[in-house]
Amino acid sequence: MAMDVYGLLGNPVGHSLSPPMHEAAYDELGLEARYVTFEPDEDDIDDAIAGADALGIAGLNVTIPFKQDALEIVAPEDLAARIGAVNTIDFSGSGPPTGYNTDAVGALRALRDHDVTIQDARAVVVGAGGAGRAIAFGLADAGATVAIANRTESKAHDLAEEVPRATGHGLAELEQLVADADVLVNATSVGMESDTTPVPADALHEDLAVLDAVYSPLETRLLRDAADAGATTVDGAWMLLYQGVEAFEIWTGRDAPVDVMNDALRSRL
Ligand code: NAP
Repeated sequence: MAMDVYGLLGNPVGHSLSPPMHEAAYDELGLEARYVTFEPDEDDIDDAIAGADALGIAGLNVTIPFKQDALEIVAPEDLAARIGAVNTIDFSGSGPPTGYNTDAVGALRALRDHDVTIQDARAVVVGAGGAGRAIAFGLADAGATVAIANRTESKAHDLAEEVPRATGHGLAELEQLVADADVLVNATSVGMESDTTPVPADALHEDLAVLDAVYSPLETRLLRDAADAGATTVDGAWMLLYQGVEAFEIWTGRDAPVDVMNDALRSRL
């Protein structure tokens, strides 16, 4: 195939920012490639991935509601298998397609890009849903100790059983956990399209780095409170950017033009 085709499988995918972000990178590097979105029915995910493979599609991102299903269809690398979700598929090998979870690495690269040290950091992850799982495993693999706090406390304990060196907590313990922490990540939907925060402002301090996975709005109440407290702030677009950068690098084997992708993303947020 003269032109490489990449894409996103999800339902719905109408408002995805991935096409402009990836196509900006192809333009910058002069690659003959396109990035398109696909919305298969929920029952057709097996056929969709097999069909993509048969058609010679080079790579797919996978989003809600297919990330868990995709794990069962592809050969997942170790981190994706432990997270239990695949968001990037690479079809370039000769065997079965390989599945990755670049949300985890995306969060780590977003933090490192802001000079945040993960090794030996005391991290607090608020949220134990899809994003919380990926970020908790990613931080633990990179050498942090992770305290997971979730509204439904039992889910925090269950996740902490799986993640190395992690502990599970309810939200009532957040204030104390954050006071002792180096890194705080919001992996809940609190703050999305509303001026609310999952963490009391009083708990924030200047020795903290705060990543908010929420990217709409870019400046959440949590990040505003964190900046007021003198903390380092990292907005959710950085995580979104670096999950895409990581996927691009897996697919093409080239360094991604990060600044160009960042501009393409931020101009649309
Ligand atoms: P999810 O699987 O549905 O999990 C939602 C999480 O939010 C759960 O932990 C849930 O707690 C918690 N939550 C929801 N409402 C709450 C409330 N009122 N108070 C306290 N906790 C509440 O969703 P997800 O896929 O993990 O996504 C979470 C957020 O991350 C979304 O805003 C999403 O846009 C964002 N995200 C960003 C990126 C990025 O690249 N920047 C990537 C992935 C996700 P319970 O378990 O108690 O319900």
